[in-house]
Amino acid sequence: MGVLLITVSLVWFFPAQGAEPKNVILLIGDGMGPESVGLAIYYNRFMNGMDKRLNMERLMAAGNTGYCLTYQYGTVVTDSASAATALASGVKTRDAIIGKDHEGRSMKTLVDITRQLGKSAGVISNTRMTHATPAAFYANVVHRDMENEIAAQLVERGDLAIALSGGAQHFIPAGVKVEDHPALKGIDIKAGWGGSRRKDSRDLIGEARNKGYAFVASEKELLALDAQKTEKLFGLFSASSFPSAIDRQPQHQTGVPTLSQLTEKSLEILKKNPRGFFLMVEGGQIDNVAHGNDVASVLHEMMEFDGAMGVVMSFAEQNPDTLVVVTADHDTGGLAIASSSYNPPPPIKLASGETWKTKYNFAEKVIFEKMAKQKKSFLKMVEDSKWNPAALKKEIEESTAFAITEEQAAALIAKDSRTGFPTMKENRKFYKSDEKTPTALMGRLFGKEMNTAWAVGTHTHTPVMIFANGPLAEKFRGLLDNVEVPQIIAGGWGATLPAPK
Ligand SMILES: [Zn+2]
Repeated sequence: MGVLLITVSLVWFFPAQGAEPKNVILLIGDGMGPESVGLAIYYNRFMNGMDKRLNMERLMAAGNTGYCLTYQYGTVVTDSASAATALASGVKTRDAIIGKDHEGRSMKTLVDITRQLGKSAGVISNTRMTHATPAAFYANVVHRDMENEIAAQLVERGDLAIALSGGAQHFIPAGVKVEDHPALKGIDIKAGWGGSRRKDSRDLIGEARNKGYAFVASEKELLALDAQKTEKLFGLFSASSFPSAIDRQPQHQTGVPTLSQLTEKSLEILKKNPRGFFLMVEGGQIDNVAHGNDVASVLHEMMEFDGAMGVVMSFAEQNPDTLVVVTADHDTGGLAIASSSYNPPPPIKLASGETWKTKYNFAEKVIFEKMAKQKKSFLKMVEDSKWNPAALKKEIEESTAFAITEEQAAALIAKDSRTGFPTMKENRKFYKSDEKTPTALMGRLFGKEMNTAWAVGTHTHTPVMIFANGPLAEKFRGLLDNVEVPQIIAGGWGATLPAPK
C-alpha cells in the first residue's frame, strides 16, 4: 500500500515522465552562449531582486539540464546553417549548408516527421523566414544565401501550418517594393522598407494565399486574427530581419510583434490539431548583436527570448503532454563580464574594526544600471548619426550612460582609405564584416565601464546550454551533441533521424 501511494504521488508530480510527447516546442537562441544566459540571469537578480527568477531559470530548475557540443562536419566551430541542420535533421554538415548532409544529400527534418505523423508544424523567428535557423526546418539548399530558393520551397511544399518571421523582400516579385505590395501595408517604415530581392516575378505571398494561408504583416493584424477560424498562418513583419529588440521598445514604435505574441498566436492555432504539433521558436537576433559586441542589446534579445519561454511554459503547464527544449546553435562573441583594475571600490571600515580594501573591480550592480540606460542598439546609433561624428557623439550621450568626445566619435567611424570601411586595427579577421566595426569599437570603448570584454565578432566553440521539461526531458541531461536533439525527439515519436529525404 505504501509503495502504491509513493507511485501515485510520483505520477502526480511528474505526469508525463517517460511518455511520448504529443507536442514538442524547440526554442533556439541563435548565438546564445552560456555567457548570454549568465548575463540575463545576473541582470535580473541584481536589478530586480536576488530572489527573482527568469522563465529560463524556472525551466532549468526542473533539473533536466545539460551542455551541448556544437562542432560541425570536420571543424571545431559551427555556422548557423550547419548547426540548424544538426538541430533539425540530426546530421553534421558543412558550413552554410541547409537541410543537406556534407555530401549534399537532402535530409528529412523534424518538420517532415511531424507531417508524416499527421501533426502540425510551425516555425517562428525574429530574423528572416529564409534565414539559416528557420530555413533548416523546411528547406534543403546547398548554401544559406539561396534565400529566394528557400522562400520558394517554403511556399511550394506548404508543410508549415505556421510561418512567422521577417524577410518579406524574398517573397515579392522582382521590382516591387515592400511598401507597395498590397499584402504588406502593415509593415512600418521603421521595420524596414525596400525593394524585392527576387530575380523572378513570383509573388510567393499570393501563392501562399492560394494554398489556404491567412496572411498578416503587423502586430495589429496578428492580434486581430481569429485563431479559431485559422488553419494555416503566414506572417512577414519586416523587409529583412526584425529591428533589434532594443530598437523595438515602445519609444521606437515599429508595428512589429514580439516573439511572445508570435508564440502565443501560434500555439492557439497549433493546439487545435488533436494529433499534436511541433513548433520551433528562434530568438534569432542574440547572434546579430553579439556579432556587433553590443552587450545591452544582447540583454534585450535575451529578455525577448525569455518572454517567449514564459508563453511556452504556461502552455506546457496546461498541456503536460508537451516537451519543451531550449538550446542554442552556438555561442557568438565570447562575452565576458570580468573583474578589472579599472575604478576599484574605495576601502570600507568593517564592523570588526578592520579595513577592507581591494585593487580590483569585481562588477557591482552599477554595470547593469549602465546597461539599462542604453535605449538604442549601437548599430542604430551609428545609422541615425548618418556617420557624422558630432551627431554620433549626441546619439551616444542621449542613448547611453557614457560620455564621449567628438574625436572619439570620429575614431569609431573613421573609414580606412584602402577599404572604404572602418576596419578593426587588431583581430580584424575575427570580425565578420567591416560594417560592424563601429559597434565593436563601441563595445571596447565602453567595456571598462560595464566590466565587459568580447573575444571576437564571430562564432566560438563554447558548448551551449540545453534544458528541457515535459515528457522525454530526462534525456536532455548531461553532455549532448547537437545532432542528438532531433534524434531524441524523433525517437520519442517512433521515427529515426538522420534519414534521407
Ligand atoms: Zn552568427
